[in-house]
Amino acid sequence: MDFVQSKQSIPFCQTEVCSIEIVNISVFNTPIMKDYYWKSMNITGLNKKFLQLNRNVAAIASIPIPPMPVNSPPIRVTFHFLNPEAHSTSWSLKRIQLCKCQIVQMPVGVNNFRNVYACPHRELLTILPTSGEATRKDMFSFTLNIAYSCPGQTMLAYEFIFDIDYKIQLKFLFDVYEFNPRKCILTQSLLPMCIYKSEHALQPIWVHNPFSHDLDFKITTEDRNIVFILEFMEIKTNFRVKGSATNMFVPIPAQHSPKVDLECPESPFTLYKNHLAVTIGTRERTSRMVVLHNTSDICIQYLWKENSMKGYYSAEVVPPCGTCKPKHTVSCIIKITGGSTQIVFGNIPIVCEIYTFSGTRIDHVEECSLDSSIDEKREPDPLITRLFVNLSLRVKALCSLDIPTLPSLPSADLAALAKKKFKSGHFDRDIFDKLFWNFIYNEDFLNDIVRKKCDQTYEDAIRDTDMSESVICTSKLNKSGLHPRRICGPPPTNGSGRKATGRRAPGDRACGAVQTVSIVD
Ligand SMILES: [Zn+2]
Repeated sequence: MDFVQSKQSIPFCQTEVCSIEIVNISVFNTPIMKDYYWKSMNITGLNKKFLQLNRNVAAIASIPIPPMPVNSPPIRVTFHFLNPEAHSTSWSLKRIQLCKCQIVQMPVGVNNFRNVYACPHRELLTILPTSGEATRKDMFSFTLNIAYSCPGQTMLAYEFIFDIDYKIQLKFLFDVYEFNPRKCILTQSLLPMCIYKSEHALQPIWVHNPFSHDLDFKITTEDRNIVFILEFMEIKTNFRVKGSATNMFVPIPAQHSPKVDLECPESPFTLYKNHLAVTIGTRERTSRMVVLHNTSDICIQYLWKENSMKGYYSAEVVPPCGTCKPKHTVSCIIKITGGSTQIVFGNIPIVCEIYTFSGTRIDHVEECSLDSSIDEKREPDPLITRLFVNLSLRVKALCSLDIPTLPSLPSADLAALAKKKFKSGHFDRDIFDKLFWNFIYNEDFLNDIVRKKCDQTYEDAIRDTDMSESVICTSKLNKSGLHPRRICGPPPTNGSGRKATGRRAPGDRACGAVQTVSIVD
């Protein structure tokens, strides 16, 4: 009898360990790209936790909810799970109350009361559905409805239960703030500087203004560091963007979100693909096609936002606007042109705004469905959501496309220089110069390069480098946001670094760019 009971209690896995995986997420009504949510909610880290679930031992997983100001519009994030096991199971979610809010009786009719929590934290997060079936080798999902309604840092916990033996405790960490300009800076750290690379590489620093008013900012490289100074009325705050160095033998692991959006009822408009990785030469042009799927039951109008940064890149979409009928798809071409400067820009948002298309104009949809383009001057109907194509763009100088990039440095000179510079704390150029020497000094780097042919010092290598712009920035974006447009170069300042200033309108994203040091020409 005992044997029969134990057999019945393990329908999910026959082994002691089982796993689930978040294979994708869908975001809806979010101001920032899916990739940001994938990284901020640490989905890659969650999947590591979900890889080995042990029977009767609750795994604990923390999910940071991207911070936003209080009363920001609610967002929806759908988690798409895969049950890779050979057995189906049922699952359920149960809230664990962590706050000390009390149960109160609420009238629900004449002499009829119901016990409910008078808990403002509860409104922060609604998860639907709260139970379901995880079919074997198939996907299941639930959607987080996130409302930024309650200011402060709050943790909400849910128990994610599979049948009876496997449990995950999901801890959702909320950071809903009143006003904090530091939270505007999305780029916390730069990509590691590859010290073997011989190219100039510009990296963007992304800034998002979620407030309902303009925000002034300055960017400076004082004291060999990149410092943001944000000002709003009397409030001034500094923020340092971290840099790091690596050698190019260590590839940077890619942690992008999946390039394809999954269709789901909560997010009926999708783009295929939502991530483009493009490498072109300076002033070269290339095109990529993306497809907009409308799986909803309504007519929509789409409008692509212009995206360019003068001298660096431009991304133009053809057609720039149009309509899409229910259950239809539309193809659009993204024309990408490189500027005159080498850049490595990740997460360039190419924004497609989706509007409702009023029923009175249904005839017009029929008329223009052949080319799917409509009058650009027409006033759009209410905005439903924004979709994003995440463009990773690398613009390389044509002449250096095939040139090997390993430096040739005499190890003795390098060691002596590294020691001298590190001890003196004097660095000639910028943060990347400092990173370079710190790396040389701290890592066992010389052993790698001593075997290579060396005939050039670091000073020789950088002598011919164009230092006309060690830091460039800034951008001013239009009211609808997400439209980088460079408005000024960097006015050099008196010896303390290079500075730039700007102002961002509400809801805007801007980016500054930092030029890395050139190791060899
Ligand atoms: Zn509460």
